[in-house]
Amino acid sequence: MSLDLSRCMLGRLASVAVVAAAGLWAALSPVSASAAGGVVTERTGTAPDRYVYYPGTEALSEGEVRVVACGTGMPDQRRGQASACFLFEFGNGEKIIFDIGTGSMRNINSLMIPSEFLTKVFISHLHTDHWGDLDALWAGGWTAGRPVPLEVWGPSGREEDMGTAYAIDGFKRAYNWDFETRSFAISPIPGGITVHEFDYKAENAVVYDQDGVVIRSIPAIHAGDGPVSYIIEYAGLKLVFGGDSSPNKWFAEYAKGADFVIHEAFANPEYFMNDYGQPAQLAWRACCEFHTSGPAFGKIMSEIDPGHAVGYHTMAEAHDELLVEIRSTYDGPLSIAVDMMTWNITADGVTERMAVSPDRASAVAGPNRQPPPDPTVPNPTSDFIRSGEWGPGFNAQNEMLDDFRDENDLGEIDWRPTKPWYEPSE
Ligand SMILES: [Zn+2]
Ligand SMILES: [Zn+2]
Repeated sequence: MSLDLSRCMLGRLASVAVVAAAGLWAALSPVSASAAGGVVTERTGTAPDRYVYYPGTEALSEGEVRVVACGTGMPDQRRGQASACFLFEFGNGEKIIFDIGTGSMRNINSLMIPSEFLTKVFISHLHTDHWGDLDALWAGGWTAGRPVPLEVWGPSGREEDMGTAYAIDGFKRAYNWDFETRSFAISPIPGGITVHEFDYKAENAVVYDQDGVVIRSIPAIHAGDGPVSYIIEYAGLKLVFGGDSSPNKWFAEYAKGADFVIHEAFANPEYFMNDYGQPAQLAWRACCEFHTSGPAFGKIMSEIDPGHAVGYHTMAEAHDELLVEIRSTYDGPLSIAVDMMTWNITADGVTERMAVSPDRASAVAGPNRQPPPDPTVPNPTSDFIRSGEWGPGFNAQNEMLDDFRDENDLGEIDWRPTKPWYEPSE
């Protein structure tokens, strides 16, 4: 993983002029400052200013926001680049996931944030590459100790059956077996999802306002009515998360002057035809009618003049070409995002690094424990199926389970004595 990261980081840095605001970042050239972290002057020396962020090791200041790209790719899945997802962490402790595209939970979980802190999701639109991993957050966190339900915010649609509330209702129906079985075995509470659906036509209307974080919605133009982009205000900062959209007047107006702006930036039609399997008739519409290409992205950024622009939603191998295309219309601060790229944003400016995290991160417990099972939840396993429990297999575990019972004071709730096959250890 770390090899992969450094390769894409160096490849990108060789071509992308990273413009970061303050201190060391501005004083040194991007490649030398970012990639190497300064000169190592002796054999036992260190280079602490490397271009890396080690998750879980840095507290944010009160007026700071950290954004981690947990998915920057396309709907067609690849191991090295998940679909759209950006985690925003605020200095006040709030953490909000903007889009949770397919595959992105593997990146989110590599940050080793307790699942009870990852309960708020904003969806820009209902294409699977923007919400397809909601199942992994929902059920994965449930099994990994999350004691509380999720909350999802998202737009309405032109018809009721095209909106977020309908989608989440359908999600619950599709995963009913999952819900019923975990509800009985664990607790139904973490399986809850509260939906906050708002009008997709709202222009810069507040859709969230809690503890100093204000989030507004603006319409986007993408494949049909419903998609939106989000404007996030915190501690005097203005940040923008653009979901999928072709160039639209609302973004040009309301994202103007923001400190940090994320917007899709698609590869050119030749790339989609030659490297993404699309026929020509689709390639030039996909990139440039339903989405925003490099020159169009650059034009938008030149119009809104952000403190820092981030393009995403393109295969990493296309980034060199994409950069040239963006630079034909925009010369300001820019990152073309790959998975795990991380930005710290303050009133003083923006710094960009790569999060370095393990491929096999463990779930990290938070301060609160899950409630016990709810005895009113019906057991989804029938007597017929239970009658098939094979005693010798179960009893083979008894020594291990006795030790665990005694170490954790579980004698009162030992689940084995009522079983017909149970043969206690001597
Ligand atoms: Zn889309
Ligand atoms: Zn998309």
